[in-house]
Amino acid sequence: MARRVRTHTRHFEAERKAFFAQCRTRHDVCWLCGMPIDYEAPQNTTDDSYNLDHLYPVSKRPDLQEDPAGFRPSHTSCNNLRGNRDPAKPLGTLSRQWIQAA
Ligand SMILES: [Zn+2]
Repeated sequence: MARRVRTHTRHFEAERKAFFAQCRTRHDVCWLCGMPIDYEAPQNTTDDSYNLDHLYPVSKRPDLQEDPAGFRPSHTSCNNLRGNRDPAKPLGTLSRQWIQAA
């Protein structure tokens, strides 16, 4: 299935930059596997490098793509493995409600 074309508005770029800076400052771990992220590596270049993931896959909820509340820090490799699926092992306070909300 072809991926929906993503929008890249200036607003979104500003939000994602701010989110990255926040994650790096806090040393946030990957929300998919719980392991540390290599914030020194350029984004999306190595398995351990940072990648902006979304709580709701953009392909399912493109309307929420620019909502920082749905931003999650992830490894590039973990995000690639996840694809458009819901996380196999949700971390934190996720309930199953959001899966069915969409
Ligand atoms: Zn990971």
